[in-house]
Amino acid sequence: MAKIDFEKIDLKVGLEIHQQLNTNKKLFCKCRPIESDEYTEKFSRSLRTAKSELGELDPAALFEKTKSTKINYYANSQSSCLVEKDEEPPHDLDRDAKKISLLISSMLESKIFGEIHVMRKTVIDGSNTTGFQRTMLVSQGGNLKVNGKNIGVQAVCLEEDAAKLLKDEQNERNYSLDRLGVPLVEIALEPVSTKPSGVKEIALTLGRLLRATRMVKRGIGSIRQDVNISVMNSGVVEVKGVQQLDQLEKIIGYEAKRQHGLVLIGEKIKKLSITITKEDVLDVTEIFKDCESKIIQNALQSKAKIKAIRIRNFSGMFGFEPYPGIRLGKEIGQLVRFFGIGGIFHSDELPNYEISDSDVGKVRKHLDLADGDGFLIIAGENTKLDYAVNSIVKRIQDAVNGVPAETRVATQDGETIFLRPRPGASRMYPETDIPSISVPPEEIKLAGDTADATKSWDESIAEIQQKYSLNSQLSEQVFDSVYMELFEKICENKKNSPNFVASILCSSITNLERQGLDATLLKPEHIIESFELLASGKIPKESLEIIFENIMSGKSENVATAMQNTDVSNIGEGELNEILDKIIQNNMDLVKERGEHAVVTLMGIAMKEVRGKASGKIVNNLLRKKVLRL
Ligand SMILES: [Zn+2]
Repeated sequence: MAKIDFEKIDLKVGLEIHQQLNTNKKLFCKCRPIESDEYTEKFSRSLRTAKSELGELDPAALFEKTKSTKINYYANSQSSCLVEKDEEPPHDLDRDAKKISLLISSMLESKIFGEIHVMRKTVIDGSNTTGFQRTMLVSQGGNLKVNGKNIGVQAVCLEEDAAKLLKDEQNERNYSLDRLGVPLVEIALEPVSTKPSGVKEIALTLGRLLRATRMVKRGIGSIRQDVNISVMNSGVVEVKGVQQLDQLEKIIGYEAKRQHGLVLIGEKIKKLSITITKEDVLDVTEIFKDCESKIIQNALQSKAKIKAIRIRNFSGMFGFEPYPGIRLGKEIGQLVRFFGIGGIFHSDELPNYEISDSDVGKVRKHLDLADGDGFLIIAGENTKLDYAVNSIVKRIQDAVNGVPAETRVATQDGETIFLRPRPGASRMYPETDIPSISVPPEEIKLAGDTADATKSWDESIAEIQQKYSLNSQLSEQVFDSVYMELFEKICENKKNSPNFVASILCSSITNLERQGLDATLLKPEHIIESFELLASGKIPKESLEIIFENIMSGKSENVATAMQNTDVSNIGEGELNEILDKIIQNNMDLVKERGEHAVVTLMGIAMKEVRGKASGKIVNNLLRKKVLRL
């Protein structure tokens, strides 16, 4: 049962796209929305209990509360001020951000409201210093055209981005504040019944519509997808943090399989009529005193308790695998990890992990189990353990319903893991520090006119193709890349070939990145300076990549140092002639034997010596002339 029929399981996917806007300021202060290289300030806070001001406790907040966490924030005064630190109320809404959000709403035919109300959305992971994120509903409804079909738009919101997670440690989390407060637009699309590849197409189309405005940020991290996925009208699972489109397709495929697997597991459990009461949770610490398992012994040494949960008629259910890798046992293992507990052992996998047959026998006897009964063992400190045991019991009882509604996070290899329960509806409440913002009819009209005048993505590509004589593939690559503005700037003086500039920006730099080098070290000013040196004949074409490689590997901090370190320069004609003559003399036998054909070999020898100092084309021409003249 490895193949899956997406139509038959009624796969529904709703996309939520978060796109950073390209403004000069943050949403509610004058700080510049730039990434900082270094953080000169650090302060710490302990995680606030997030109780929404409407009084209801949020299940996700409660869950997070079970983990005691200290939060460290790192800041740079260039990119953050007292607003980010929550020591000063927010300033006025950035006008550009408002304008761009209205334009995007218009382009999606979404109905813009005459008044915008700022709301606070409870955030429980410490990624906002205030404990909430500010969000504004700008418009509702609308359509996105994808291959001639209309995909419904639910809403467009203008929001502030969260702080960037630097490192997540056991009981401490580290965030930087440079990204906090960067304006972003959240576009929520109606759920659609489609295949994973169809969702990728929708995300691609929306991303391109946004880039066509030329008012959004580009590159990895500037656009993020959250995906709401359900099958067979079961619980909706929210998957966060998908950054690449290929990953999106893979994750939806995995989630469809996982969810359908859980539905099949639920159908099987339904027939068993499972009840678990308090009497089914027993302390078995004593029984494991002599157990040889290192995991158990480590737990006992750290004064942990060991508890067992008895589930009548449950034998075989933890290990039942409707799809490869999809098991209830694995789900529960992920769940307890979020209470800081390493994992669980269940009856379908024991004896194993140095837990012997005799250990298992003792547990079964203590729990008074019949052959068809199952059990689960978990170790941990008292308070954590109680939370974990309760959530396991609830998870097993809920398993009859198939898929629990929860928030998961995407992994690099295209799977998803449990993050937290889904937050309740009480997460939003009004922002009291900012009065409502009016959107007069003339602003709405202006947004509509701008939308009409904005070139579509296809038109933009055609324009680049024509203006710079690039092929369509390179035009698309440049336009979708983070380097679009840089490309136009470098080509402005018409001294460099656009084709060469585009291929360096879109292919050479990417290749260096694939080799593990850091593209963030290479700043736009480095790239511009290098192309200027090339245009004025101070360096040959070949040395661009050498300079970039040196900077991206952290060996140099600027172009001048990189040139010194790599010995890049344009050597004079005299010196070059001398070097080439010497190479020919040293290889006279070869030249005599092969004549003009020797040039290929000589070229290899010569370029080793003059790499980065002379253009390959010139070297080749000179060598050929010299050999023919002999
Ligand atoms: Zn600020």
